[in-house]
Amino acid sequence: MEKKQFQAESKRLLEMMINSIYTQKEIFLRELISNSSDAIDKLYYRALTDEAISFEQDRYAIHIDANKEERTLSLTDTGMGMTKEELEANLGTIAKSGSLAFKKATETKDGHDIIGQFGVGFYSAFMVADKVTVVSKSVDDPQAYKWESDGSDGYTIEPAEKDLPGTEITLHIKENTEDESYDEFLEEFRLRSIVKKYSDFIRYPIKMQVSTH
Ligand code: ADP
Ligand code: MG
Repeated sequence: MEKKQFQAESKRLLEMMINSIYTQKEIFLRELISNSSDAIDKLYYRALTDEAISFEQDRYAIHIDANKEERTLSLTDTGMGMTKEELEANLGTIAKSGSLAFKKATETKDGHDIIGQFGVGFYSAFMVADKVTVVSKSVDDPQAYKWESDGSDGYTIEPAEKDLPGTEITLHIKENTEDESYDEFLEEFRLRSIVKKYSDFIRYPIKMQVSTH
């Protein structure tokens, strides 16, 4: 197992996410769903030019599974997946697109006002989770890898088992504190309403399952 540190700028963004008292914590789900959707899109475009890759529309979906007893919320997609190098490059460093604009804005404004305005990306998971586990298998590599981080202390990466290409992200949802409730992110009704609010336009089916044990 390899243990690595985040880059300095990623660390700063992470700290903001972890300590965010922002009321719109719920946007983490929008970010993760949009990443899954992007990953399926990428597979679709790849299949157009690469004969080795087939794209069968009905096999593609995003699954959201909550387990109340384990306090886990996982998102599974059947997209492109990530190689070990991509896991490190994409999750170990600050994100591109939306997050870059976010980072720029945080240099001038107070973080609280702007989190909801940008695509803040993958790290927003740390607003609701104290540990994030990503198991991914790339369409370009038969070996899957597991990336794991508690946000503050870098991340680990190691080989893992996974049958199908794609990505499974598991959030270990924070315990409630006196001021903050996180239980709601394990409630089916609440999760469904978040999906409806932010991800209604996603073109792949989003399938949800909640279990209490
Ligand atoms: P952005 O989506 O703006 O690039 P994110 O922080 O949301 O930034 O994601 C960072 C990168 O991690 C993505 O660009 C993508 O390469 C990779 N990534 C994140 N989630 C997934 C996923 N479910 N499947 C494949 N790649 C992913
Ligand atoms: Mg994103």
